[in-house]
Amino acid sequence: MVRRNPQKAERRGETPVASQAVAEPLLRAPKGTRDLLHPASARFRALGDVFARVANGAGYGQVILPMFEHVEVFHRLGEATDVVTKEMFEFDDRGGRRLALRPEQTASAVRAFVENRPMLPWKAWYAGPNFRAENVQKGRYRQFDQVGVEVLGLDDALIDTEVIALAWDFFRTLGLRDMTLLVNSLGDAGDRARYVDALREYFNSRAAELSEQSRETLARNPLRVLDSKRREDASVVAEAPLLADHLSEAAAEHFARVQDGLRAVGVPFTVSPRLVRGLDYYVRTTFEIQSSALDAAQSAIGGGGRYDGLVEQLGGDPTPGIGFALGVERTLLACDAEGAFTLGETGVDVFVVDTTGGLEALTLTHELRRAGVAADRAFENRSMKSQMKAADRSGARFALLVGTDERDAGEVTLRDLRSDTGQLRVARTDVLDAVKKALA
Ligand code: AMP
Repeated sequence: MVRRNPQKAERRGETPVASQAVAEPLLRAPKGTRDLLHPASARFRALGDVFARVANGAGYGQVILPMFEHVEVFHRLGEATDVVTKEMFEFDDRGGRRLALRPEQTASAVRAFVENRPMLPWKAWYAGPNFRAENVQKGRYRQFDQVGVEVLGLDDALIDTEVIALAWDFFRTLGLRDMTLLVNSLGDAGDRARYVDALREYFNSRAAELSEQSRETLARNPLRVLDSKRREDASVVAEAPLLADHLSEAAAEHFARVQDGLRAVGVPFTVSPRLVRGLDYYVRTTFEIQSSALDAAQSAIGGGGRYDGLVEQLGGDPTPGIGFALGVERTLLACDAEGAFTLGETGVDVFVVDTTGGLEALTLTHELRRAGVAADRAFENRSMKSQMKAADRSGARFALLVGTDERDAGEVTLRDLRSDTGQLRVARTDVLDAVKKALA
């Protein structure tokens, strides 16, 4: 029997096999995944809410996609795409189908477009987790969330501008300021193919000077060598031919109009002739937004571009497409670094403190909740002191106190927990009105 060393296999980037015994504590979250507890989870969700508002507000409708697909869907992204060939979590289901957890959502969105034939243009947004068997480090996980948009059926350069500006404005809405937008054009498919040939020839002529990793990459995808951040490669990469010199007139015009559009809406950008990005399907416009607040290796908080050939590759009629995907965890790391997008109070509005046995707290919290007021309480008939502590921890603005005094008088005490404005006794029957007035 051939025994594989799982850790070595992992380092080689091989897809992890479920039955492999990896020497890790088994009752911990798997490598590259994280639990998010409150309030981190509230902030995560709030980011998604902001994105939904921004995207809905620009005429995009949500698409909810399966988290796994037939592997074939992802293989159509191109065999030179690392996330497909080296980083997918693949498995067979009980019916013998070969499936993969989605490493990204554009392929699924395009598959869904071909399958469901929505009206053109189709402007869709999505949010949710993706899965890649990556080498884990800060800002690089095996399960990570993205929010993104896809537009299918529009060739107009100004939709490229709209999509880029949408990503930019979303980040600005979160409060991020330390950002750089890089844009490039990869040309049309023909330009791209000619450029790849020119690059291959160039890099081959200087292969001896390249790092071993880049020589390997070169065999698969010369474009990706441009992405190398290794010092040994720097001078060879710096002198590589530029795509700008291989652009067709139509692609160059398209790109110029995208840039004019960005200037018109006041989105600052830098043309970066070596920006190629990891996914193989891009043609013409590509872009990336980097946060200067993060380490260089993980500074990309989002990116995207045009993928005009992808619909055909997935079995549809020729249809142009463009989109972006933004990394939620990395965006939050950038927010942390800039002190942006901090969450306000997340607690309930009212905490009911009942020292008469708990039944008053039961009925009061339910009345309040049914009236739309967020309310909580303590259980197990704790002491007044212990319940007041719980009220403080809950973040509530007000406490409603019911002791035997209040109960016998048919009243409750409303106390402001955030200021010393004292407290007030209100009739039990007027509680809802009093609470609503106090909250307003
Ligand atoms: P991509 O789908 O590779 O174009 O990535 C788009 C964005 O998703 C990146 O700019 C990152 O912000 C984020 N991202 C990609 N891969 C990961 C990962 N493994 N962990 C966390 N975020 C990621």
